[in-house]
Amino acid sequence: MKAGTALNTRLDHRNPLVFDTHELGRRPGAMQRLSREIDAPADLGLAGVIGVPEGAPVKLNLRLESVMEGVLVTGTVRASATGECVRCLEAVERELKADFQEMFSYPDADDRGRAKAEPADDAEDDEDTLFLEDGLFDLEPVLRDAVVLALPMQPVCREDCLGLCPDCGAGLNEDPDHHHDAVDIRWAALQGLVTDQGDEKDNMSGTASDGVQSAAEKQEK
Ligand SMILES: [Zn+2]
Ligand SMILES: [Zn+2]
Repeated sequence: MKAGTALNTRLDHRNPLVFDTHELGRRPGAMQRLSREIDAPADLGLAGVIGVPEGAPVKLNLRLESVMEGVLVTGTVRASATGECVRCLEAVERELKADFQEMFSYPDADDRGRAKAEPADDAEDDEDTLFLEDGLFDLEPVLRDAVVLALPMQPVCREDCLGLCPDCGAGLNEDPDHHHDAVDIRWAALQGLVTDQGDEKDNMSGTASDGVQSAAEKQEK
């Protein structure tokens, strides 16, 4: 093994998100299907918004295909995500299904490519490329990306959720006619201003508030 690959901690085959590709035998064209149910790792989802609770069941179906440069992994994840409606703060539960596909390259295949590749491409390639380690790969980063992409950034309990009253926080779904008299008072005040302005018709004031002020000044004099 090359020194550079030792930077990562070694993959542990007992980790439920680590998969073994040895059965494919490094024969391009060989294929293997497998399914696994795992306990959700911590923080799977959008932090503070919606996600799969730690320890909740996560169903994985994978197809591993041996290709020249590595193993192509195509799969589906199914799980239940829970969060909070962004409008009314009620609990939201979503059945989540997400597809993903990722290439895991043989480290030595990459070395061959690297000799030919232009130096400028190297940094980008290294960031994007996932590698097999001793025939094992870690699905966790792929799973996390797939789950996050499949979840709503702004989950709602239902599309027409009315949310909460901005003044008192009452739930409007239970009481759609909820309102405050203060709104009526403000409206009445506005109507009053309009009337005042009407009374000051021959006054030169441009706006309603100017009209009110000059009217008040007149009364003082
Ligand atoms: Zn809601
Ligand atoms: Zn209210």
